Amino acid sequence: MISLWRSSSFGFVLLVGLAFILLPRTHGWSKEGHILTCRIAQGLLEPEAAEAVENLLPHYANGDLSSLCVWPDQIRHWYRYRWTSSLHFIDTPDDACTYDYSRDCHDPHSVKDMCVTGAIQNFTSQLLHYREGTSDRRHNMTEALLFLSHFMGDVHQPMHVGFTSDEGGNAIALRWFRHKSNLHHVWDREIVLTALADYYEKNLDSLQEEIVRNLTDGIWFDDVASWQECGDLLPCLNKYATESINIACKWGYEGVKSGETLADEYFNSRMPIVMKRIAQGGVRLAMILNKVFGQPEEGFAAAT
Ligand SMILES: [Zn+2]
Repeated sequence: MISLWRSSSFGFVLLVGLAFILLPRTHGWSKEGHILTCRIAQGLLEPEAAEAVENLLPHYANGDLSSLCVWPDQIRHWYRYRWTSSLHFIDTPDDACTYDYSRDCHDPHSVKDMCVTGAIQNFTSQLLHYREGTSDRRHNMTEALLFLSHFMGDVHQPMHVGFTSDEGGNAIALRWFRHKSNLHHVWDREIVLTALADYYEKNLDSLQEEIVRNLTDGIWFDDVASWQECGDLLPCLNKYATESINIACKWGYEGVKSGETLADEYFNSRMPIVMKRIAQGGVRLAMILNKVFGQPEEGFAAAT
């Protein structure tokens, strides 16, 4: 990763530019969604996990996990990381509105486990080696932390567990108020940006404060304990993906047709759902990091 950051800015711009031209499909909460998820998570870390995260972050992150939570989206089209590109989402059968790990978790070439839930499982078990000390060089722990943190955001974005033929809503072109967009992007970014503009004077800190307030003594206070419940990781991840496809069907796709304009009604009814998914992603990322870096008897069993 370090070498990539050192590459010339021209090469960087060229590569990123090409990536956007060649591969228009987008995945992942917007930059804002990922930043919020990671900031909420980092605020909920217990001391051991907070210290481990700080140790794993590169110096230039200044201890701020959220500053690198978008990194997996930035590098997914680079040659070296092209294999990660299918790890941001899950395609489920059209109109089934269900998710099944063994049926759905694969890449376009049917390689098993190459989807967002498989990736979270993989990077979590890599991080479990952190407690064994730095002698284990099989994995890049920093990258594992950044991928895990990013993908915990993605699995909570409902349209990341969408239908196959429309690419999770990417192929459903429509208008968001006055400008062109698509259904996937509405859930990735448009709703968050409209909320920021309409209610928070475009200030991400204010939105974050409100989400945290709702977790600590607001509308989600009673739910947080149940969001955090998790014995074995994979069943928990399957639950999060199932929640996403259920929301995608009920609130994402429902009543939406290609070519139409989505505006106030869609925004007002979906915004609370987007905020809740960001909050859940943050709370659950913290739960995983606390288990991974905390006392072994309270955490997940280490993979061998
Ligand atoms: Zn992503």
